[in-house]
Amino acid sequence: MMLRRSLALAALLLLPTLAHAQDPAANPDGRVAPKSAWLTLSAAQREQVFRFSDPYKDYLRHAKSAALSARELSHLAAAAGFQDFTSPAQVKPGARLILSNRGRATLYAVIGSNPIASGSRMVAAHQDSPHINLKSRPVLNAPGSVAILKTIPYGGLKRYQWANLPLALVGHIDTVDGRHLEINIGFHPGDPVFVIPDAAPHSDKLLRTRTYTEVLGGEEMTPVVGSIPGEKDTVADEVMALLRSRYKIHDEDLVAAELELVPATQPADVGFDLGLTGSWGQDDKLSAYTATRALLDLKGTPGKTAFAYITNFEEVGSDNNTGAGSDFLDSAFTALLDAQSQAASGKPASALDVRNAQAATLVLSADTNDGVNPIFPGNSEASNSAIVGYGVTIKKYGAGFDPNSEFTARVLHLLDANSIPWQTQTPRVDVGGGGTIGGFLSQRNMEVLDIGIPLLSMHATYEMSSKVDLWEYYRFMSAFYTID
Ligand SMILES: [Zn+2]
Repeated sequence: MMLRRSLALAALLLLPTLAHAQDPAANPDGRVAPKSAWLTLSAAQREQVFRFSDPYKDYLRHAKSAALSARELSHLAAAAGFQDFTSPAQVKPGARLILSNRGRATLYAVIGSNPIASGSRMVAAHQDSPHINLKSRPVLNAPGSVAILKTIPYGGLKRYQWANLPLALVGHIDTVDGRHLEINIGFHPGDPVFVIPDAAPHSDKLLRTRTYTEVLGGEEMTPVVGSIPGEKDTVADEVMALLRSRYKIHDEDLVAAELELVPATQPADVGFDLGLTGSWGQDDKLSAYTATRALLDLKGTPGKTAFAYITNFEEVGSDNNTGAGSDFLDSAFTALLDAQSQAASGKPASALDVRNAQAATLVLSADTNDGVNPIFPGNSEASNSAIVGYGVTIKKYGAGFDPNSEFTARVLHLLDANSIPWQTQTPRVDVGGGGTIGGFLSQRNMEVLDIGIPLLSMHATYEMSSKVDLWEYYRFMSAFYTID
């Protein structure tokens, strides 16, 4: 979910906060009392909840960038019988197809028994997460006889959290002489890590008047990457010489690179009861994984074509050609519709056919949201804030995600019919908010509802999600893919 620092919200509709429609323990005011989703589980379901979190954590261990997430999800899809879309002849009922956009965004499709023109079901999510990018000429000498990296933050991160944290470097370099070098340093035993050094409390008096958001300035997000001098002028020169020789690169190759610093930490269970999953990148690799997993696990041929659309660049506004604002989705729809139209009538799909098919698409725009924080509960407005462990979230009144009430009612019916606990979320007026990719899909005249599950420490270097919410989210998406 993209951070919006100031958002004026004009209207606030107080919906009843339902935690479980099948458990109507009414409050005196007539509302259904919120209830932890954990309390709705049978013993067998509880076991499924814990089991479901294991492959999710496995995915998180590998999905350290949007491209690495795309690769991991495509591996899972291939193992589930999906094939790269290369020919119109593949577009037959029951076909399981992968439409990749440059290895950074992907449309996964299970072709339904009815033509796509009759409507389709889509769960859309993003697989990028807040991180730190390297500048084009990244290695610099710094006072204290060290080499540092010059960086630029990606997404709405709180800079102070990134100091004194072991950082890994992931991504790739495309060299001018035509090689593609994968870089992944910091996650393997024996790997070095990179660290942004904070000031010692012994000597930081000059810094103590800085406010919360200025604890590290934008140009101070500079991890140490070398300290041994040599024959060259500076430590930075030594580090660059080392990189040139190790990777056989020239300095300009670092301009044609996508290199990201991410926490060199791995997922773990949080709490004595193991109820939470902790990891960097859960916004929104959590939704990307769940949307894809639920599609891969679809059995047989659905009536309507089901899509998982997993995008990039959401945290910076869904720009660029692999973001949700890209025409890729329109091209993909056109290619699939064209294949079905040619097979049925020998004619290509018209532009109007494509638009009509998009208008008949029902979309869950899935993205994690902020949960009630135990230390700062006043940041949320209690009647419409989401609680970790209380089920999936129906989001209203963020930037660009106001659903039609008819569609919302249809989705709520689906939740209730499947006994999936749900709650609502609308940010406290005047304190914040966020955007998702939902707006880019409703611009295409699709029917879109924004959903999520709550996180603690959202957009932090280590975020927490509830395992029961993750599992209910999966059940929600699974049910949605097959609605008539
Ligand atoms: Zn986000």
